Amino acid sequence: MKPRIVLLPGDGVGPEVIGAARLVLEHIGESAGHRLTFDEYPVGGASIESHGVPLTDLTLEACRGADGILLGAVGGPRWESLSPRLRPEQGLLKLRKELELYANLRPVRVTGGAVAGSPFKAGHCDGVDFIVVRELTGGLYFGLPRFREAVNGITRAVDTMEYTDTEIARVVRLAFTLAAGRKGKVTSVDKANVLETSRLWREVATRTAGEFPGAILEHMLVDSAAMRLVTNPKQFDVIVTENMFGDILTDEAGVLVGSLGMLPSASLGEGGPGLYEPVHGSAPDIAGRGVANPVGAILSAAMMLRHSLGMPEEAGIVERGVERALAAGNATADLGGRLSTAAMTDAILESILTLKGV
Ligand code: NAD
Repeated sequence: MKPRIVLLPGDGVGPEVIGAARLVLEHIGESAGHRLTFDEYPVGGASIESHGVPLTDLTLEACRGADGILLGAVGGPRWESLSPRLRPEQGLLKLRKELELYANLRPVRVTGGAVAGSPFKAGHCDGVDFIVVRELTGGLYFGLPRFREAVNGITRAVDTMEYTDTEIARVVRLAFTLAAGRKGKVTSVDKANVLETSRLWREVATRTAGEFPGAILEHMLVDSAAMRLVTNPKQFDVIVTENMFGDILTDEAGVLVGSLGMLPSASLGEGGPGLYEPVHGSAPDIAGRGVANPVGAILSAAMMLRHSLGMPEEAGIVERGVERALAAGNATADLGGRLSTAAMTDAILESILTLKGV
């Protein structure tokens, strides 16, 4: 097998953490007898600098032809004065839209070594293990009409929240499929006491659950879910929700793991390649210093092994390697440690080496 991976390092700490993830992928691929091939393309600010646009047709075509795409982060102060259409973030949004990546998966897992930077009491988060499935191409962020107008001296702005039963069913189905390999419980989050789109969401979620006998479905209002995520995060297995609720809840969930640098994500569509990226941004405040936490990017690479490259065993080895390295006290500055990106990556590679079967 020769899986083809497109790397989009992007801006700020993006190239630093993608370099770390590539080392891990090369190592794991070699030891499993797969020759992973890597092609690197610019995206975001890096692409604006070299090609004048945040995503070129060439990069997009390369992504379409890949088995998996691994992205660092885009953006930074250098490009903030550009018009909204030309900003680095547009490259990422266009990529998600063009590849029809309708589901964003964000696993949130807290292991013994990962809670040093957490604002929660010791033990509160240890053992947390859930995954948020956020709908990514519908809802309030894409609905039309969207406009602003001034009439008789009053300015009003309108956004539209819209969902079809098809859009809801496909993302809920994905959540149940994931739950089947876990504890089998899906929490569908909505605001059905107020919103029509949420009432449809709840109906479709209930109907779709019928396709998965044995699975458990619970419905939860988004305000209650926001509270329970911090008061009792261990109650969740798979959370599925619409675009904006997912956007907000996943940042809240990020606090549970102690640092934004820890969280991976996968954006999946129907058939095409998945896009894998750490949840964090380009972190301009620490970029270029070699101190970024590479864990989010390395765990994103593990998600790519599992969901796009058909290498679930290797994904598990990478995840356990990260867990062990953290449990042994290895930590970058954001986790209260002193390790550089390179030293943290070495610690993870060593930990992977000691695992059985590698
Ligand atoms: P950020 O995630 O870049 O940084 C927030 C804080 O977390 C900073 O203090 C940063 O140092 C820290 N941090 C982030 N990643 C880290 C890591 N790997 N290791 C250690 N510490 C880490 O968010 P921001 O500062 O709001 O945004 C900076 C830029 O990134 C902006 O231009 C924004 O638009 C962009 N951004 C991009 C993405 C993306 O590419 N998906 C996501 C969010 C923000």
